[in-house]
Amino acid sequence: MPGLNVTDENRSNPLRRPVPAEKDIAIVLRSVEFSETSLIVTLMTRGLGKIHALAKGARRLKSPFESALDLLAVCRIVFLRKSSDALDLLTEAKLQRSFRVPAGDLRSLYAAYYVVELLDGLTDDYDPHTELFDLADETLLALSQGESAARRVLRYELGGLGLLGHLPSLEMCVECGHRAEPVGGRVAFGQLDGGVLCVKCRAGKRQVELLGPAALGAMARLADLSSPAWQRMEMNPRTYGEVRGVLNHYVSNLLGRRPRLHAYLGALGT
Ligand SMILES: [Zn+2]
Repeated sequence: MPGLNVTDENRSNPLRRPVPAEKDIAIVLRSVEFSETSLIVTLMTRGLGKIHALAKGARRLKSPFESALDLLAVCRIVFLRKSSDALDLLTEAKLQRSFRVPAGDLRSLYAAYYVVELLDGLTDDYDPHTELFDLADETLLALSQGESAARRVLRYELGGLGLLGHLPSLEMCVECGHRAEPVGGRVAFGQLDGGVLCVKCRAGKRQVELLGPAALGAMARLADLSSPAWQRMEMNPRTYGEVRGVLNHYVSNLLGRRPRLHAYLGALGT
């Protein structure tokens, strides 16, 4: 046929078309041994969301990926996206930044593990959350630079809940929309309802906790990603304990299980 050559025929045949390589930046969330030489890695990419990819040769002494696939690392990757029932294939990973534990402070490491546990647990595959990626990236960097792990974790949790549409209502009653006024200095927080409850609406509710205005105010400031006010805010140990407690419960409800790292968060201090 005139004008048709072998190359054109190949190009028009979807079965022969090469799979396009995707390039992205990623945070390493998990890795499991797949064979004597390979790993299956779970990565949060900035532009494409969470992926699971086979990294052939990653367990060899001279791995083509070197340390780019270490847990908590940020790396630049190239991968081939496979059909829905197959793993993606990682073809390249170059380390951009590894997580460094500041001066042997294990609290920062636990906090960092918790950051990736939530990133993994609260997102779906191939569901990109660019701002959440950036928040996690910024949090990991701050933790490796020795910033207060307790505060950074709260900021990440509340900022992240907001970005995922799960931020609890902190001022207005989640049921009726009216302001939830404190009673005896405390406001009711309905864990199963997703926020504060006014006196009328709290009747008969299960899993209700009582929070002071300081804790609710701190949560609102920590959740506001447009403002750096959270960095200057005073938070005494009691307020921190209240916020930590309510978030532990709330995040566990969202995940449907208690995060593995929750046991370590109490030791982060303020
Ligand atoms: Zn109400």
